Amino acid sequence: MPHVVTQSCVGDGSCVYACPVNCIQPSPDDPAFELAEMLHVDPRSCMDCGACISACPVDAIKPHTQLTEAERVFTGINAEYYAVPRERPIMAPLRRRLIVKDRGEPLRVAIVGSGPAAMYAAEELLTVPGALVDVYERLDRPFGLVRSGVAPDHRRTRRVSRQMERIRDHDRLTLHLGVEVGRDVTHDGLLQDHHAVIYAVGAASDRRLEIPGAELPGVLSATQLVGWYNGHPDHEEDAPDLSHRRAIVIGNGNVALDVARVLTQDPDALGDTEIAPYALQALRESRVEEVVVLARRGVEAAAFTLPELVGLRATPGVALDVPDAELASVDPGHAKGDLLRSLPAPAPGDRRIALRFLRNPTAVVGEGTVEALEVERTAIGPDGALVGTGETERLDAGLIVTSIGYRGLPVGDLPYDAARGVVPNAAGRVVDPATAEPHAGTYVAGWIKRGPSGFIGTNKGCSQDTVAALIDDWNAGVLGSVSVPVVRPAASEGMRRRARLRALAGQAFAGRR
Ligand SMILES: Cc1cc2nc3c(=O)[nH]c(=O)nc-3n(C[C@H](O)[C@H](O)[C@H](O)COP(=O)(O)OP(=O)(O)OC[C@H]3O[C@@H](n4cnc5c(N)ncnc54)[C@H](O)[C@@H]3O)c2cc1C
Ligand code: SF4
Ligand code: SF4
Repeated sequence: MPHVVTQSCVGDGSCVYACPVNCIQPSPDDPAFELAEMLHVDPRSCMDCGACISACPVDAIKPHTQLTEAERVFTGINAEYYAVPRERPIMAPLRRRLIVKDRGEPLRVAIVGSGPAAMYAAEELLTVPGALVDVYERLDRPFGLVRSGVAPDHRRTRRVSRQMERIRDHDRLTLHLGVEVGRDVTHDGLLQDHHAVIYAVGAASDRRLEIPGAELPGVLSATQLVGWYNGHPDHEEDAPDLSHRRAIVIGNGNVALDVARVLTQDPDALGDTEIAPYALQALRESRVEEVVVLARRGVEAAAFTLPELVGLRATPGVALDVPDAELASVDPGHAKGDLLRSLPAPAPGDRRIALRFLRNPTAVVGEGTVEALEVERTAIGPDGALVGTGETERLDAGLIVTSIGYRGLPVGDLPYDAARGVVPNAAGRVVDPATAEPHAGTYVAGWIKRGPSGFIGTNKGCSQDTVAALIDDWNAGVLGSVSVPVVRPAASEGMRRRARLRALAGQAFAGRR
């Protein structure tokens, strides 16, 4: 029986390099990789060696025989990917190798941020012999959205932080927590001590909902609500009003489904997670019985991924609801449509997530706080464009969460593309948009480089590309020199931790004697 990729796949491609028969696709060198919702094992080629299991940072791959009832659907999802024969080489692609010139001094790089993009960039840089990496994080906890974004009940996805911990603990990496670049240390200051600076600061803001009433109390962005339940210090005060029986989420990407699931599932099921204790208490007292998830387009254009929908369908105590009429135009064989057509019947006492398609919010209504949302039904015109039908409805609710996209903020004096919310760059080199001239020694990676798209693992290739550009510049001798003597860090966090562990092991050993 073959091995199967399941819901928690974060798309980092590690399994591809581990597989001896190249039967996990798409591989990172395939243009389809960046858009893939997950990777897939070809059941006809898999020889059950299990090598991919140990390579996977989030335990997403299982032998067919160990799938849970809810996971069995992934057998078909993996196999379906190969229904159309695909050309692929017998061997997996070779991993890129950096070729680095010896310049008589160690390369020294500062990375701003400690999310996935930062840690993958650090991992790649640390393959350079002797390279020293300083990671600066404004919060007092590392790993960005892995801790502040990923839903607390996505336990396996959160295990990716174990991989990040291994990178953090490298002897040549020093992690500086609670240091905000721009406030506590300047860009020029970093460039005095480092040959290059990589900004991996993510996309800390949201696209705004621009309709009347959107500024009313009771309207929260996904950044606020997710930050609140994940204990992000910027959002501890953003408690939602959970006193009404209905909440509405605008947008239907994976983050929207995360929010709907956290608001509706049994709080006891979140008790053993890393959810903020105050949020768990508020959810225990919540009166929300139904979350309506609204999208302007139809099921075929749903922004959530298939694996996320599989997980949502299997959430105990939560009934998913989609009216038959909304599925009527979806062709049989459409994977998301088929899953939505075969939803399990609700059980008594279930809370409800109502997925509603082809509805455009037009106004938030309320006296001093949110009372309702007005929406207009939409339709897809003959040219594929979205058109209003003029048919409106009012949905009463006490909480409205907007989940319509994240947005990067300007970074110090670096150029900024306000339309896309990114720092203009060429393969990770920060460039002046008017002249295309690179800003010496300054690079970007992750969401601030390419915009808020993809999964945790998508940032790996993105950061590797940036590091490749940086190394090309190092080899070409265009990076400045550092003005302070380069010394190995006296004791990085990782070194201190290992020293503590060695001391403890010594004590334990001494105790046994
Ligand atoms: C709500 C949510 C849920 C998600 N769930 C999943 C999931 O289940 N699976 C999945 O694969 N992907 C998920 N993603 C996507 C994934 O989290 C992103 O792809 C990834 O985190 C982007 O990485 P990044 O390093 O660019 O940004 P971030 O993870 O945002 O990291 C940026 C870091 O930079 C720090 N920083 C910012 N400014 C400064 C400064 N001036 N000085 C110092 N530090 C600074 C921030 O504090 C932060 O730690 C989710 C995203 C969101 C928003
Ligand atoms: S079990 Fe072995 S052959 Fe099968 S997908 Fe994993 S690595 Fe490849
Ligand atoms: S998370 Fe990475 S290693 Fe695991 S299945 Fe997905 S791509 Fe493969």
